[in-house]
Amino acid sequence: MKITNLRCLLLPAQKALLLRIDTDEGVYGWSQVEQNKHSYLAPQILHCKPFLLGLDPTDVENCMRRIRRLGAFKPWGGAVSSIEIALWDLAGKAAGLPVYKLLGGKVRDRVRVYMGGPPPFTPHVPYSAGGDRPEDYYSRTKARRERGRGIGIMKTAVGFHDNRWRQVDGYHYGIAYAHGETLSPTARATGGIAEVAGMVTERGLAHTVECVAAVREALGADVAMALDCGPGWKVPGAVEFARRVEALRPLWLEDLVTGDYTPYVGADLYRAVKQQTHVNLHTGEQIYLRQNFRELIETRAVDVVGPDPMDVGGLAELKWVAEFADLHGILMAPHGIGDGPFGLAALVQVCATLPDNYIAFELPIVGEEWRGLVTGIVEGMVEDGFVRVSDAPGLGVDIVEEEVRRALGTAEIYLGHARTGTPA
Ligand SMILES: [Mg+2]
Repeated sequence: MKITNLRCLLLPAQKALLLRIDTDEGVYGWSQVEQNKHSYLAPQILHCKPFLLGLDPTDVENCMRRIRRLGAFKPWGGAVSSIEIALWDLAGKAAGLPVYKLLGGKVRDRVRVYMGGPPPFTPHVPYSAGGDRPEDYYSRTKARRERGRGIGIMKTAVGFHDNRWRQVDGYHYGIAYAHGETLSPTARATGGIAEVAGMVTERGLAHTVECVAAVREALGADVAMALDCGPGWKVPGAVEFARRVEALRPLWLEDLVTGDYTPYVGADLYRAVKQQTHVNLHTGEQIYLRQNFRELIETRAVDVVGPDPMDVGGLAELKWVAEFADLHGILMAPHGIGDGPFGLAALVQVCATLPDNYIAFELPIVGEEWRGLVTGIVEGMVEDGFVRVSDAPGLGVDIVEEEVRRALGTAEIYLGHARTGTPA
């Protein structure tokens, strides 16, 4: 079997960039990039095409050896990672087996999720909507919990992770932004969230702790509280914050120092924080490749790692990181909020195979606008905080091209700037 084509499909209403790999035997594989990157990763995906044409797609690692050097930390690992996932989809379809069988087999029939996004086809209450007062956090958390339908872990954005800190005068000693200034969606999507950094003031710290207390109260005793906090905290501020929220029993504090779109790891800084707090620290969503997890894991600088399959280099890469983390007593909670239907399916397949250090993956957002365009994702597939593992060949999801043509109002649905030829 040989790869004959690699094409991109842009779905503006879904903020989705999909990719499809075709073969000379008619078997194909689908994937997509994280939804935040839909507007700019197509050229990078198509850049990989000449490296892959003619290769056997079921030799996934052989294909990845040709293109792995074309990726980097988030967002630039997105193209390569998503291609890897499409290769597994294709290889699974070719073998008539679900992807989990090709990754070593499943050890669980249901995979636990945590709530970043809501269950498929239910309304999303975004991280960054509404006010910044503790009572706003309380009501927003109540609403999200309602939509979570039994999901036992909910993640909330606090600190530098959302725009609301900008509504607090004198939040930190870093570069001052105008009061109330917010980043445009484009700026956020392309890394604006990592622009903010500095030592948090007493006022900023007290405000954030009050908001966290409100979230804790709204969640009640039976829902665990994960907090996405940064990046951008300096070590002393991060330590002080961790100590003050310790009594509120967060499951983890995510990305305090680095994360999101930070193009490096900072393992030594995490280790400095960890040595001074008992709260679990979590990071890793922006990290590309196993090599860049090595120091974090070997020095036990955090308690939980959260690679995203669509950024780390794909499913096999994520599984390797999970096994290596488990060897070192570190837990696993993969990232995935923007990964859409293909990311959801991919996370289910790989997480079914992970060792006992697995906690839960972050539920990707699959909004109402996907209904009818994709098979294999259904309302009600999240039950009591778990998703049942699909046994269908490949990822178990597919695009309904007829419906896509109808939605886009054109017969030619693939992007036109495909690059051909042999790389130098
Ligand atoms: Mg995060």
